Amino acid sequence: MSQLNEAAIRDVVSEVLAQLQSKGSIGMPTIQTRPGKHGVFDDADQAVAAARSGFEQLQKKGWAARTTIVNLVKKMCVDSAERWGDIEYNETKIGRRAHKPLKLQGVQNVLGPEFLVPQGMSGDFGITMDEAAPWGVIVGVTPLTHSVPTIAGNIINMVAAGNSVVFNPHPGGAAVAALAINEINEAIKAEIGISNLVCTIEKPTLDSFNSLCSHEDVDLLCITGGPGVVDAAMKTGKRAICAGPGNPPVVVDDCNALDFDRVARDIITGGGFDNNLLCIAEKQIIAVADSYQKTLDAMVRQGAVLLNAQQLEAIKKEVFDFKDGVGCGSPVLNRKWVGANPDALARIAGLNIDSSVEMLIAETDANDPFVQEEQMMPLLPIVRANDFSQALSIAKQSEHGDKHSAMIHSMNVERLTQMGQEMDTTIYVKNGPCVAGLGMGGEGFISYSIATTTGEGITTPRTFTRYRRCTLVNNLNIVR
Ligand code: NAD
Repeated sequence: MSQLNEAAIRDVVSEVLAQLQSKGSIGMPTIQTRPGKHGVFDDADQAVAAARSGFEQLQKKGWAARTTIVNLVKKMCVDSAERWGDIEYNETKIGRRAHKPLKLQGVQNVLGPEFLVPQGMSGDFGITMDEAAPWGVIVGVTPLTHSVPTIAGNIINMVAAGNSVVFNPHPGGAAVAALAINEINEAIKAEIGISNLVCTIEKPTLDSFNSLCSHEDVDLLCITGGPGVVDAAMKTGKRAICAGPGNPPVVVDDCNALDFDRVARDIITGGGFDNNLLCIAEKQIIAVADSYQKTLDAMVRQGAVLLNAQQLEAIKKEVFDFKDGVGCGSPVLNRKWVGANPDALARIAGLNIDSSVEMLIAETDANDPFVQEEQMMPLLPIVRANDFSQALSIAKQSEHGDKHSAMIHSMNVERLTQMGQEMDTTIYVKNGPCVAGLGMGGEGFISYSIATTTGEGITTPRTFTRYRRCTLVNNLNIVR
């Protein structure tokens, strides 16, 4: 059978299956991809070989091709935001359906090739250029919390810098990853004639992670995820850019000049977005002295539902596994509840609330698991601090040195500066929601890979380049 016929038959089969699914004729929805073609592979060696060829094809096409591809991927994220968002939500079953397209549309604000400016030097001894060169083939590991948005953002940064990429996505978001990568490849091929510039492993496993990360033809790793995968990547010996975990606190200062309703709205906007799945999201509120009650009241006025102590305990026992008993040892997060809706969490405690509620809040002390663990649920603990210095120390301790993100609401300039200096986080937002730190309601650009652990910060095309110098001695500079 010729390849053409094979592809045509697969198309027909996909179409028929899609029609059967839409009519409810078959049970579990499956997402049709084309293994071994258009960037989707079941084998690490094949994927790396294909991506190497994709990289070489891109090099031959030059800089204009990078801009074309970046614009194409951005347009596809907008055009497919609802569809990909829907598929991702149905596959991962976490977060809020309505927020999935917004994350894809946000990819518009990821930096492209325009960000890479060569640096020239000219003087008595001639001219020198420092230029941003690609690494080659990059391996990208992406989280369950934002599968396609992270993949799309990585593609834009990495291809803008002239690289190709092979993804080993989270298995729970791998089908939508394969679907989007398949479509992106087809579009790149149709637009500019390059195949397999972006590749993925269809059924990613720890074995495929290990094979990719130890592959001699892989030049760089970009890891977005929790502590386990960051540790594993750092042990491979390859250069790794690691966008690791966080547990971002928000401090509310004792300040009469604050508009507490605006503070509460900001906390709900950031902490409630996609049911608290963002790694930068407000995860615990620490309020100083009189601001404690004012913040609590404003949160309720702005729509958050306040849990009582019994309701909090009931939820805590379900969403954490206390292997050594409640209050002893380190609780383990029951991942079934990550990104759950507030109404689903409330039902654990026998409380019926509307599905439109964006956030639950509960009064806790600083040692509560909801404060100490990166729980990624729209249930924010609020802790009372006697003064600003105590608030800062609770905030710092609860962030566990991840150097990820922190927020503050205050009109006291000295305190705004003091917290920024002491937290030493990659993102620090003053008087706004966390998302302002990624250019949504604040100045700046976005990436869904914030390289906290290895220090590159919010990734840009520059993160994925090697700097190379070219020097010409005693010649060609036209100015004497
Ligand atoms: P996760 O750590 O469970 O998984 C992330 C990725 O790593 C997945 O692809 C997973 O399959 C893989 N993985 C996990 N353990 C591994 C191991 N031991 N060896 C090899 N691969 C492994 O995280 P998640 O639940 O998908 O995402 C949430 C976590 O990611 C949170 O900790 C969050 O803070 C973090 N995150 C960070 C950023 C950032 O930019 N810094 C962005 C998004 C998410």
